[in-house]
Amino acid sequence: MNILDGKQTASAIKAEIAEEVTQMIERGERAPHLVAILVGHDGGSESYVANKVKACEACGFNSSLLRFNDDITEQQLLDEIKKLNEDADVDGFIVQLPLPKHINEQKVTDAIDFRKDVDGFHPINVGRLSIGLPGFRSATPAGIMDLIERYGIETKGKHAVVLGRSNIVGKPIATLLMQKAQPGDCTVTVCHSSTRNIKEICREADIIVAALGRPGFVTEDMVKPGAVVIDVGTTRVPDASRKSGFRLCGDVDFDNVAPKCSYITPVPGGVGPMTICSLMKNTLLARKGIF
Ligand code: NAP
Repeated sequence: MNILDGKQTASAIKAEIAEEVTQMIERGERAPHLVAILVGHDGGSESYVANKVKACEACGFNSSLLRFNDDITEQQLLDEIKKLNEDADVDGFIVQLPLPKHINEQKVTDAIDFRKDVDGFHPINVGRLSIGLPGFRSATPAGIMDLIERYGIETKGKHAVVLGRSNIVGKPIATLLMQKAQPGDCTVTVCHSSTRNIKEICREADIIVAALGRPGFVTEDMVKPGAVVIDVGTTRVPDASRKSGFRLCGDVDFDNVAPKCSYITPVPGGVGPMTICSLMKNTLLARKGIF
């Protein structure tokens, strides 16, 4: 069994990005600039955004954090997005989700100029990904594909089972795994809450991507010997022994599943760091211009 070390892989990719940024600056060009919008004070969102800002520093990017109280109106937020769309000093920006209930997240996503949509959530980027055109790829699926590529895992002709069909993880990772590309070229089955016989389907999988948000869902009896298991799940589970009061739990019963796998991602330290790394890659691409 081999651990797919997202932390180490992400560090290596960030060092490569930093090297490229150093060369840009030496040529007299401006460093990439990422802006993050944070609405309200959700603990999870605060820490995700703090990690993104830290990653910008590691890559030599400029970063700005725009904070708004959770009583900001939808129109005020849309006005802020318009300003960022028009600001030539901003290469890319993200609006950290979730947003307060009175704000329509889809409306906000649609308002972002797709050329600055480094999260890859805008319908134009989703559509371009779907038909294999260059664009911003959704950060978590892109990070998973990078991890697979960097570890030289053969995917061609393999049966990949994706657990979950969300717009930000399940659907785009299924799309990437089925693309005629390397990595890619898989036969993909997508499972969700209405799927029957999930256990049987998983047992047929060469590659399992678990993105459900159900701690420990994938058990040892669901995994074929030698399978590759990618655990996207990050559920906060109360843990009084931790300073934070919680620990992150994946969707895979790691201790019992790991011995059966050829490769497996840990939680934390697997997909999470790769996600942030993809955001950095997208921001660099935005600076260089990909459309
Ligand atoms: P989501 O939007 O809640 O989607 C969950 C999906 O899982 C849905 O498609 C749902 O089916 C399916 N599902 C839930 N329970 C199921 C069950 N018992 N059996 C079969 N299918 C079930 O979640 P998400 O945004 O994709 O995130 C999934 C997990 O990944 C969460 O833990 C999240 O925190 C984590 N995540 C991690 C990263 C990272 O960087 N590490 C990034 C994004 C998300 P229906 O569609 O039928 O409801």
